[in-house]
Amino acid sequence: MLEHITASEVAGYGVGALLLCATVSAPKIDSFISASQRSSLGMCKRCGDLKLIACSNCKGSGSLKQGGMFSFSLPDDVSFVGESKTISLSCNKCRARGHFPCPDCSKPPYA
Ligand SMILES: [Zn+2]
Ligand SMILES: [Zn+2]
Repeated sequence: MLEHITASEVAGYGVGALLLCATVSAPKIDSFISASQRSSLGMCKRCGDLKLIACSNCKGSGSLKQGGMFSFSLPDDVSFVGESKTISLSCNKCRARGHFPCPDCSKPPYA
């Protein structure tokens, strides 16, 4: 029966609902606030005025690590020439720089 629910229980449900709402909406609110703050400060929304975007292919390091795990797929009659340790390849996507100029705020001067 509803009469048997105590005030503290009702408060508990209310807090629980509030926490649930906050948890669900927090990331959206946070991104919205940070974006509006950046634009109000005149900062680039995409890069935060760093004028650089980190390369997603190499995670900004400019090189791709390979080794270890990939050798298991080699057939027995193929001998891998090189070391068994990790080798690093330069990232083609960012030309090993690890970042791109921000397309929103870092326009080339000749454009
Ligand atoms: Zn890269
Ligand atoms: Zn930018």
